[in-house]
Amino acid sequence: MTALLESYAQGAWYRAPDEGMPLADATTGETVARLSGTGPDVAGMVDYGRGVGGPALRSLTFHERAAALKSLAKHLNALTAEFHALSHRTGATRRDNAFDVDGGIGSLFSYASKGTRELPDDTVLADGAVERLSRGGTFVGQHVYTSRPGVAVQINAFNFPVWGMLEKFAPAFLAGVPSIVKPASQTAYLTELVVRRIVESGLLPEGALQLLAGPPSGLLDHLGPQDSVAFTGSAETGAKLRAHPAVVHGGVRLGVEADSLNCSVLGPDVTPHDPEFALFADQLVTEMTVKAGQKCTAIRRAIVPDHLAGEVVAAVGERLESVVVGDPAQEGTTMGPLAALDQRTEVRKAVHRLLGSAEAVVGDPERCSPVGADPQRGAFVSPLLLRAEGGADEPHEVEAFGPVSTVIGYRSTQEAVELAARGRGSLVASVVTADPGAARELVAGLAPWHGRILVLDRDDAQESTGHGAPLPVLVHGGPGRAGGGEELGGIRSVVHHMQRTAVQASPDMATAVTGRWTPGARRRDDGVHPFRKSLAELRIGDTVASGRRTVGLEDIGRFAELTGDTFYAHTDPEAAAANPLFGGIVAHGYLVVSMAAGLFVDPVPGPVLANFGVDNLRFLTPVKAGDSIAVTLTAKQITPRANADYGEVRWDAVVDNAEGSPVATYDVLTLVAKERTEA
Ligand code: NDP
Repeated sequence: MTALLESYAQGAWYRAPDEGMPLADATTGETVARLSGTGPDVAGMVDYGRGVGGPALRSLTFHERAAALKSLAKHLNALTAEFHALSHRTGATRRDNAFDVDGGIGSLFSYASKGTRELPDDTVLADGAVERLSRGGTFVGQHVYTSRPGVAVQINAFNFPVWGMLEKFAPAFLAGVPSIVKPASQTAYLTELVVRRIVESGLLPEGALQLLAGPPSGLLDHLGPQDSVAFTGSAETGAKLRAHPAVVHGGVRLGVEADSLNCSVLGPDVTPHDPEFALFADQLVTEMTVKAGQKCTAIRRAIVPDHLAGEVVAAVGERLESVVVGDPAQEGTTMGPLAALDQRTEVRKAVHRLLGSAEAVVGDPERCSPVGADPQRGAFVSPLLLRAEGGADEPHEVEAFGPVSTVIGYRSTQEAVELAARGRGSLVASVVTADPGAARELVAGLAPWHGRILVLDRDDAQESTGHGAPLPVLVHGGPGRAGGGEELGGIRSVVHHMQRTAVQASPDMATAVTGRWTPGARRRDDGVHPFRKSLAELRIGDTVASGRRTVGLEDIGRFAELTGDTFYAHTDPEAAAANPLFGGIVAHGYLVVSMAAGLFVDPVPGPVLANFGVDNLRFLTPVKAGDSIAVTLTAKQITPRANADYGEVRWDAVVDNAEGSPVATYDVLTLVAKERTEA
């Protein structure tokens, strides 16, 4: 008897009392594993996530969570051979494994890196700048993000059993929200294996990840306003979830990623002799055959200049001839079977509908001769290219979730945009053109209907990551029919799991809440220069206020000579006098900033190791020859770096003139040793 899949619920593996139903190998039809219709206590899982996983995650800072993600990614990376072997049984070829298994682990690495670089070593995230709300400066506004004390339920589709889980899990984890993962039945055995290895690693706090290998029935009934559901699957199930009382009345946040009739548009400028023509055809074939077209991002509609439709069909047909459909584990196979025989039935049904207004021009939906595999036992289909007229409805409405695409002709750029929009919102579009004007017009027209657009040409083709590959750092999700979500997109998808709140307070209270010094808050000058303090000793608000220094005409002349910056406003009194902003010689902004460094720096060797940049530099008031300047430097944010004996300190710098007007403001960025070692 093959293994019965188990759920990881409430800190233990749950095994159903019955034998379950068989899950078939996509190629041979043999049973890979069994899955029961009896699941664990879903209410208990929700409580456990909220009561155990959530508090454990929220006690970690963003950096600690990012470090855990990185360790997990490394751990799983060492186990890919095992995952790849099992993944073949879902119908995935070696190339498909690179998307699902390696791509999933890549998402963990990416979020680990983003979390470390773009989030603070804190549990609260300040959003945007401080808003000054009063004349006296004692009342300010600051938006903050905090982790929701709920669970993130992730209901995944069968096509990406690993990536589908990890791309949703990583942002939720970084946000401090525990996940309950419900994989699709057909390929749940691969998800279960990966979760098993994650649990064994002990790298995640208990309760951060639970697996529901069983029916989701009743799960939503237990969710409330701090919980979310991220669903990928059919539009039909998506619609059911949208209508669920927990969503309609209970405040559960629902993200849906359902059918998406993505398109690729061949630019009006392209001729069959241009490299872009071949790129268009190559990419279409790739998108039709990777994962046997079972990809939410696959190109379903090839929108091409009408006069080129025949040539596009011929070029794609020629390329499809070299596709080797067969056993996905074999080296030479370039396209495996669909995930299950039921899916083949679904694809054939969808093709039947498409044939209502399109004709098959390459391939036969009913026949396939896979290499080294039984065409009856395995869920094989041949790649199928259809051709339709612009007026046809079905290509814009029916998603055949397999290696199926339809070529549609357009007569004007405007018509190309209108055809794309008839998909009513998609995840991704490609624009393949060498003409910048066409690129701008098409992107502007397509963008409101898409979450991502790839502009492909001869210059980026070599390094392009391709139409179908969602990237963790870019938005993955699309408007309208595509569901309206934003599953990926760097930190954007992290904050979807958090609540944004506008906090109105005094600058001191805003500093306390965010852990970041707020202008107007108390400064602390204990007589020790802050550059003499290690990271362990330095406190937010530690300040040095410099003495004054006069900026002489001679200084300005010497700076111009030294740097070669002899711009007339610094060197030519007559021309400078005619300048409406200055009315005379003024100091270089960089001279002011350089002199400010001379005023605030403590020169003796100490814990400050390096200055690695400035942010937000603004020159606010011109400094004229004879003006005096002073600078106040205040520790604004302290971020220790993991695995290093130093961290980053962001300093608020304000340079002012004798009248007290700010002449320059900026953040100075330094690296400071964690501990002080006396020279
Ligand atoms: P489903 O919508 O049936 O299933 C998707 C997930 O939802 C599965 O985990 C499924 O679990 C779960 N589910 C099903 N019913 C419910 C429910 N009432 N409440 C909560 N969860 C539920 O889609 P399929 O995976 O079967 O795919 C069907 C079609 O959907 C494909 O042929 C394709 O056309 C489209 N699809 C589109 C995708 C896209 O992103 N564009 C991705 C995947 C599919 P279980 O498996 O246990 O039923």
